[in-house]
Amino acid sequence: MSFEVPESVREIRDRVKRFVEERCYPVEPLVEDRDDPKAREALRELMNSAKAEGLWALGHPLEIGGQGLPFLDYVYVNEVVGRSGVAMVALGTHSLQDSIMLHEFADVEWRDKYLKPLVDGDVFPSFAMTEPDVASSDPTQLQTRAKLDGDTWVINGRKWFTSGADRAAYTTVMCRTEEDVAAHDAFSMIIVPTNTPGYNILRDVRVMGHYGGHCEVQYDDVRVPKKNLLGPRGGGFKIAQRRLGPGRIFHCMRWLGQAQRAFDLMCERANSRVAFGKTLGQHQQIQKFVFDSLCEIQASRLLTLSAAQKIDRGDEARVEIGMIKVFGAQMLHNVIDRAIQVFGAKGVTEDTPLERMYRHARFARIYDGPDEVHITTTARRVLSAYKRGDGWDFGAH
Ligand SMILES: Cc1cc2nc3c(=O)[nH]c(=O)nc-3n(C[C@H](O)[C@H](O)[C@H](O)COP(=O)(O)OP(=O)(O)OC[C@H]3O[C@@H](n4cnc5c(N)ncnc54)[C@H](O)[C@@H]3O)c2cc1C
Repeated sequence: MSFEVPESVREIRDRVKRFVEERCYPVEPLVEDRDDPKAREALRELMNSAKAEGLWALGHPLEIGGQGLPFLDYVYVNEVVGRSGVAMVALGTHSLQDSIMLHEFADVEWRDKYLKPLVDGDVFPSFAMTEPDVASSDPTQLQTRAKLDGDTWVINGRKWFTSGADRAAYTTVMCRTEEDVAAHDAFSMIIVPTNTPGYNILRDVRVMGHYGGHCEVQYDDVRVPKKNLLGPRGGGFKIAQRRLGPGRIFHCMRWLGQAQRAFDLMCERANSRVAFGKTLGQHQQIQKFVFDSLCEIQASRLLTLSAAQKIDRGDEARVEIGMIKVFGAQMLHNVIDRAIQVFGAKGVTEDTPLERMYRHARFARIYDGPDEVHITTTARRVLSAYKRGDGWDFGAH
């Protein structure tokens, strides 16, 4: 088992890295302002360049118009994509999970209508599970309901943190469709085009001082055809799980790319800035920052790659995914926090990318399930293995 970048992927990974560093880094401050037409134009230009250079949709399966890079190769590519918050959209990787969901579960009409434009980056998806009025880390409590009226679903409820809803062509909405069954069989996914009457964006919720397109959306008698159901009735939880599993590996690899960038910045600053007669890096406390970050990044990388290899072998790797979601997000937060500290006041200004990276790192400990939920479910799985008498032999995992 090797954790070095395999020979097969080195060339394409280097090209992506160059694209990210040379083309994405310079436009990051501009693209932060989602409403600025210049930001959209800059992003569109990047997307066109990525296509022209053969770097577009590298991990999407061939049959849906992607370049079909094998899963493990694509894992290593994500590590360099992660260096810039702009790169996912610029390289067309942002739609991977939604494209696969459409491909596998949508009615043929929606597949025809959305799949190609989605993979081509001509339309954007969004996903609505979280609600403001219930603790959504326990999605069995979700209140949004869809009822069948003849051949039409009628949806009522309120969601928030539907990221990207402000520019999306459609939202996949998780809502309760069944009443007298177990909670995990009571929810379904339904496709709602964002121009459907009754679908109202109430606000783009300002988050840590910025508008990031995390929208609050009201659903008032939103009527969509019965065939907008994604997968089977009551299958919402299973589809959500299918969406999240491999997706978390990609998240964690992108976090490693962010952490690498913060680590590079921290070490360069530590070697160049002088305080009290020596460089910052000659002070022991700063050396400890470097050491702790080194260990955490390496540990997170090994955990993530070993989880990826397990998934590649067909295992769901639920315990490993729980570990990397929590450990990876905390690692990212810690490394960027230390880098900011080494930069002093400059670290919290927009003169370095660290301020922006820190905000996203803070989000990572909450989205796709907060740390505490993953800790609980992961620990429970391991304890159950002991109850069954199997134990948890690290040598076998
Ligand atoms: C930047 C960002 C983007 C997001 N994008 C999307 C999106 O596109 N679509 C979408 O649907 N959602 C999105 N979310 C929402 C995210 O998935 C939810 O915030 C998350 O699932 C937690 O739900 P909640 O906010 O309702 O927190 P709650 O469920 O209210 O939980 C609050 C806190 O309670 C604690 N807690 C909860 N359960 C336990 C437990 N079992 N044990 C101990 N403590 C516990 C945790 O500390 C947790 O942080 C996004 C969030 C962020 C920050």
